[in-house]
Amino acid sequence: MTTTPATTPVPTPHPTLSAADPELAALIGAEERLQSDTLRLIPSENYASSAVLEASGTVLQNKYSEGYPGRRYYEGQQIIDQVERLAVARAKAVFGVEHANVQPYSGSPANLAVYLAFARPGDTVMGMALPMGGHLTHGWSVSATGSWFRGVQYGVRADTGRIDLDEVRDLALKERPKIIFCGGTALPRTIDFAGFAEIAQESGAVLVADIAHIAGLIAGGAHPSPVPYADVISTTTHKTLRGPRGAMLMSRAEHAKALDKAVFPGLQGGPHNQTTAAIAVALREAAAPSFRDYAHAVVANAAALADALRARGYDLVSGGTDNHLILIDLTAKDVPGKTAAKALDRAGIVVNYNTVPYDPRKPFDPSGIRIGTPSLTSRGLSTEHMATVAEWLDRGITAAKTDNEAALLELRTEVADLLSAYPAPGLPV
Ligand SMILES: *Cc1c(COP(=O)(O)O)cnc(C)c1O
Repeated sequence: MTTTPATTPVPTPHPTLSAADPELAALIGAEERLQSDTLRLIPSENYASSAVLEASGTVLQNKYSEGYPGRRYYEGQQIIDQVERLAVARAKAVFGVEHANVQPYSGSPANLAVYLAFARPGDTVMGMALPMGGHLTHGWSVSATGSWFRGVQYGVRADTGRIDLDEVRDLALKERPKIIFCGGTALPRTIDFAGFAEIAQESGAVLVADIAHIAGLIAGGAHPSPVPYADVISTTTHKTLRGPRGAMLMSRAEHAKALDKAVFPGLQGGPHNQTTAAIAVALREAAAPSFRDYAHAVVANAAALADALRARGYDLVSGGTDNHLILIDLTAKDVPGKTAAKALDRAGIVVNYNTVPYDPRKPFDPSGIRIGTPSLTSRGLSTEHMATVAEWLDRGITAAKTDNEAALLELRTEVADLLSAYPAPGLPV
């Protein structure tokens, strides 16, 4: 047995979070219970695995690494360079691209980098209108992208709820945008990347496929890939891809330099290395055969849920879904989207209120709700559960209409009961 010399300094305590900050630890515990007990139907959310969560909470976050592997402005990058190279190699393999940049902090900064690479302030850019299902960063007026650039916007047809490529072509040829974005946040249908690429070519624009919502479906072969049609692919990593909150830009080799320069030093400083590591983990998961099953199950669940909702008389934008997302127009049910969303939340069913195309109501109190199946599929729910989920939604929406608080509470218990048999990835059991 050795005795401690008297000169040894008192060791620094390394308290756990619950010892160091019980108040915050309690909040995180409460959030874990909320995510465990509720049916999370927000289509942009998911449950990251324990491995992804573990990588994102590591000492990698202690490092400054401005630059790219082998070309950093800081020393001490022996390990970080390997981490980033691994993430890049996995991104290239999963999506079949020549170039990948894994440093964008999130989807919005990734899109800003695309503007920086391919346009100058005042240039015309084109994207889908936000109330039609596009994203703020596709040139919508309230976004920096709509005030620093001249945003022209396409939508969906009123009769079909779908994008009409002839209308997109007419607008592109008339406006001659520098950049055309395809993709969005409330699009229940497959995106025709080849069709968009033809239009971009005819009008001399750079085509950006923003696959933030559907990246996991593409990685798993459950949605067509924008490769080789899009000049640039922008994606978040935390939606269907089930990684940490982050983003990636991908392209053919010819655009590699412009994109890298735009991300750093154009727009960002040091990359979030812990996120880069967690992206690498998520991409390894996405390359596994089980992820193909996951992606196809997400789509099968959405199709089954859409069928069950239609059978209950719900009006779905575009009539249904091809992907993970369903946009319900509640106009005929005579319940505003916000009223429905808030009531469902009290019933333990988490959705978001959303505009529907040509919505006569205001964006802060619109006619629809947006739902999706990525999270419930991560828990292992399958097509046989979708009739129950549709029934729950119907009961919640009916209770919202009749102000039946007791029915909502009863529903909340039922939801938590069923979900307790389907533990969520990344959460303590
Ligand atoms: C989510 C999303 C983004 C933005 O991602 P953030 O990480 O929230 O900035 C961009 N484009 C599309 C299509 C999205 O769905």
